[in-house]
Amino acid sequence: MTDSTSRVIARLDLRGSRPGLRELRAAVPRAEFDVEAALGAVRPVVEDVRDRGAAALLEASERFDGVAPPSLRVPADVVAAAADSLDPAVRAALEESIRRARVVHRDQRRTDTSTRVVDGGTVTERWVPVDRVGLYVPGGRAVYPSSVVMNVVPAQEAGVPSLVVASPPQRDNGGWPHPTILAACALLGVDEVWAVGGAQAVAAFAYGFEEDGVVREPASLVTGPGNVYVTAAKRMLMGVIGIDSEAGPTEIAVLADDTADAEHVASDLVSQAEHDPLAAAVLVTDSPALADAVDEALARRVAATKHTERVAEALSGRQSAIVLVDDVEVGLDVVNAYAAEHLEIQTADAAAVAARVRNAGAVFVGPFAPVSLGDYCAGSNHVLPTGGCACHSSGLSVQSFLRGIHVVEYDEAALRDVGGHVVTLARAEDLPAHGEAVLARVPDVEPGA
Ligand code: NAD
Repeated sequence: MTDSTSRVIARLDLRGSRPGLRELRAAVPRAEFDVEAALGAVRPVVEDVRDRGAAALLEASERFDGVAPPSLRVPADVVAAAADSLDPAVRAALEESIRRARVVHRDQRRTDTSTRVVDGGTVTERWVPVDRVGLYVPGGRAVYPSSVVMNVVPAQEAGVPSLVVASPPQRDNGGWPHPTILAACALLGVDEVWAVGGAQAVAAFAYGFEEDGVVREPASLVTGPGNVYVTAAKRMLMGVIGIDSEAGPTEIAVLADDTADAEHVASDLVSQAEHDPLAAAVLVTDSPALADAVDEALARRVAATKHTERVAEALSGRQSAIVLVDDVEVGLDVVNAYAAEHLEIQTADAAAVAARVRNAGAVFVGPFAPVSLGDYCAGSNHVLPTGGCACHSSGLSVQSFLRGIHVVEYDEAALRDVGGHVVTLARAEDLPAHGEAVLARVPDVEPGA
C-alpha cells in the first residue's frame, strides 16, 4: 500500500477500500516517538530534582541546555529589561495575539450551576481555579513566546491566583530564557519566571525547590507544550501534579480535494514540519493530481526553507505521508481515526465537511485559515493534544484550569425523604455503615422507603 517513489514524503494508497477504525489506526502514519524510552531518560532526572532540588535543576540545565542560569528564579529587572528592549513590531504582534486570545478565552468562563433536586435538597457545581499553576514554555530547537500567551491568558481568565512560567536557559542570553519569552511574560504581568526547561522543569513544578533560603512552592497543575522529554515527565508525574494533556511534537493533517491549492497545502505541511524532526505532516486526498502537485511543491519548498534539514527529516519520517482515498467520505474516516492535533479542511464546501469532524485538537476551515494563523493570532489556543489524544482530550482553555466542586446541601426533611433508599443501596453494596450514618440522623426511615 505504501509507495516510496515519491520524492519528499511517502504515499499510502487506500483507494478501493474503506478500512475500519482498527485498520486505520494501524495504517495511518504516526510518529515513532517512544514516550516509554524517553521515560527511561527522564526518570533519573525527575528523581534527582525531587531529592536534591535546586542543585539537581542547575546540573540538569548544564547537561541538557549547555548552560546553568545565574539563578533559577529570573530577577524582575531581567524580565523588565527584556520588555524594554523588545522590537516594537514584535511587541505589536504579541499584543495583538494577547488581545485576540483574551477575547476568545474570556468567553469560555463557566458559571456555577445550582440545581434544586427536591424541596430542601440542592446540588451546586462551583467552578474553582487551581491555586497555583506551572506553565511550560518550550525553548529548545525553537523558542516560543507565543506559548507564553497561550498558557498565561487562559490561566488568568480562569482566575488562577498564582502563576509561574518556566522555560529553558539559553546559552546566548547569559543562561536566562530567551528575551522574547521574558518580554512576553512582562507584557502579561507574569512576575515569577524560572530559568529551567525539559523534564527538570516539570519536576520543579511538581516538587518545588529551595534556592538561597527561599522556598519556591510546587504547583497543582502543569500545562503547556514540549518535546518528548517534557511529555514523558508529564506522564511520569501525573498524580503528583495535574497535567493538561500530552501536547508533544506537533502534527498537521490536511483533508483536501481537487479544489485545494497545492501551494497552500505544501506550505502548511512545511510550516508544521519545521517544529521538530518528529513533527507529523499528513495529507489525505481523493485527488491524485493534487497529491502530485503537492509533492512537487514540497520538493521546491523544502529546498528553499530555512530549516531544510529538520523539515526534510519530519516529512520523510514514518509519521508523514500523503494518503490517497476514494472520496472525501473515506477521507473523513481517515482524519477522524488519526485525531490530529491540527486538521485543515481544504475541500469544496469546507464548512460542511468540518462540521463532520469528530476528532481533532483544532480544525482550520477553508483556504484562508492556515494552522500558522492559529499558532499565533487566531484567538484560539495552540496548546493542543497530540499522538491521537484528540479523540479524548481538548486543547488548553479556561476549563483546563478549573475544577468543578459539587456542593451538597440537604435539610432534615429532604434527608428523611430519601434516606430509605440510601440505606437499601448501602446494604446492597455490603457497606452497612453507610446506611448507619443516615440512620444516626433520621432513625425512623425504613429501608426501601
Ligand atoms: P522544549 O523546551 O520542549 O525542550 C527542550 C528541553 O529538552 C531542554 O531544556 C532539555 O532539558 C530537554 N532535553 C533535550 N535533550 C534531552 C535529552 N537527550 N535528555 C533529556 N532531556 C533533554 O523545546 P523543543 O525541543 O524546541 O521542543 C518543543 C516541542 O513543542 C516541539 O516538539 C513542538 O512541536 C512542540 N509544540 C507542541 C505544541 C502542541 O500544542 N502540541 C505547541 C507548540 C510546540
